[in-house]
Amino acid sequence: MALMTTHTWRLFTCKQSLWVRWIHEYRLRGTNFWSAPNVAGASVGWRKLLEIREVVCNRFIFKIGDVVRELVGSGGWNWPRTPHALHAHPDTLKWRSYEGDLHDFSVNLAWHAIRNRAHPVQWFSVVWFAKCIPKHSFMVWLLMGERLKTQDRLKAWEISSRISQVCSLCLREADSHEHLFFKCLFAKQVWTLATKVSRVNLQVDSWKDVVDVLSPIAFKRSARVIVSKLLFGASVYGIWRERNARLFNKKALSCAQVFEVIFSTVRLKIMSIKCKTSSQVQEMKTDWKVP
Ligand SMILES: [Zn+2]
Repeated sequence: MALMTTHTWRLFTCKQSLWVRWIHEYRLRGTNFWSAPNVAGASVGWRKLLEIREVVCNRFIFKIGDVVRELVGSGGWNWPRTPHALHAHPDTLKWRSYEGDLHDFSVNLAWHAIRNRAHPVQWFSVVWFAKCIPKHSFMVWLLMGERLKTQDRLKAWEISSRISQVCSLCLREADSHEHLFFKCLFAKQVWTLATKVSRVNLQVDSWKDVVDVLSPIAFKRSARVIVSKLLFGASVYGIWRERNARLFNKKALSCAQVFEVIFSTVRLKIMSIKCKTSSQVQEMKTDWKVP
């Protein structure tokens, strides 16, 4: 992964490299790397390069004079408008370290910033499993590594005056990984609703609770366990999406509405899974209103 990050870095700093010129000419064809579609049929290497964008995008920082901004922000390309514009300022692109400081790029710093710090054995099966919904698993994976850009991790210069510095879900304190997904009253309501439908206690109070509840059973292939993991991932995704919608778009759904989306997403996934009929599967279908 650090190697892929290095390749991504080179795309913006080694304009004269034959490989970089080839990428811009034949892969990007004038489009923006950060919004280039990851289409089926592309080479594995190129797809891996595109997949790492979400992990590294908030670590690319450009600095021109007094202007210090992320290269990519809120799903958009901040500056410069064309990759070639950076060529005029070869020393302006910086790497934001895990601690949040700006440095010249190095593979070691990249690895230090993007590696997952939690114990992999305990949670791996909670996040990645055969029937998982990839975008949900990816979100849980980011949560596990504390890689989401919660308010407690924003540096003063990153804070826009238009963005409030209070949890958009409960309006009580700045959000953090721990607050947003576990301590927040809104999140707690989501976990309560999730617990009612899953029959597995998902009323988690911290990441440790998740590990305690789900890890011991995560390797099992029973319908109940698979659905609980799907529900956990969908809930994490739903909480983060609602947080962003309120923070950036000033649109708010109630907790019940957010859970309705979570429920229907998991229900649709369940309907696509073929499993042998058993009393447990029948019970689960009843819980999820699956015909
Ligand atoms: Zn909150």
